[in-house]
Amino acid sequence: MEKLFLCCDLDRTLIPNGDQAESVKARPLFSRIAQQNRLILAYVTGRNKAQIRDAIETYDLPVPDYAVGDVGATIYQPGKNWHTLSEWSTYIQNSWHHSGWEDIKESLNTLTFLLLQEPEHQHRHKLSYYTDPGIDKNSLEEEILRRLSPSGVKSNVIFSLDEEKGVALVDILPQKASKRHAIEFIRLQEKLSTDQVMFAGDSGNDLDALTGGIRAVLVKNASEAVRKEAVNQMASQPNPDHLFFARGDFLGMNGNYSAGVLEGLVHFFPETLDWMS
Ligand SMILES: [Mg+2]
Repeated sequence: MEKLFLCCDLDRTLIPNGDQAESVKARPLFSRIAQQNRLILAYVTGRNKAQIRDAIETYDLPVPDYAVGDVGATIYQPGKNWHTLSEWSTYIQNSWHHSGWEDIKESLNTLTFLLLQEPEHQHRHKLSYYTDPGIDKNSLEEEILRRLSPSGVKSNVIFSLDEEKGVALVDILPQKASKRHAIEFIRLQEKLSTDQVMFAGDSGNDLDALTGGIRAVLVKNASEAVRKEAVNQMASQPNPDHLFFARGDFLGMNGNYSAGVLEGLVHFFPETLDWMS
């Protein structure tokens, strides 16, 4: 049987740390299907390595084959003692040429609407700031890219909301470092076709992977704003049916968090329903 590559965001996608309720049987069922030999599992998240390991322990999640951390800046192999995939680091560094974290920070230090996040959120290939949630994100991105362009640095600016803290997060990464590109990198490494891949997410920093052409599911607990943005972006996609919106009422579950992931998995790969009985 063909392999299936399942990629999941963590916070408010697999991890039920939002306002909505989680169906009791969803996570145990997710853990059960993760044991299938046919499945290659990846977590794709804004969390760093320590936070991913903490999430696995706290929420009793299966240990994945791959963990894409720091919104795409790093790829780990948890089964191989959390080995860092150095090929990925080399690949993404290309977009920053010889520039590093410090150079990028220097170029942006007069932008008063950006407040540097704590050191544990920074990474060689990820510069992270807080900003006002009400800010116009398009002009913010334009301004950042304008500041960086003289040095030839090509960056990916990711804007997302931390609803718990009531702040907006701005991550600046090498252009090739994104959740979508990281998934694509692993897919090629595993010699899989795009038809064998599914991604599940809930928020702004998932949009690029949700609407990038691979099969994807937006869990039901996603905000209305993200849902609208996803619908807009899909309108110009050649395969609009590659994004599925979890609705709930699947095996008695509500479609939130991991229940939505399972619902999407069966929507795209109906044969996986057998794994759940
Ligand atoms: Mg999330």
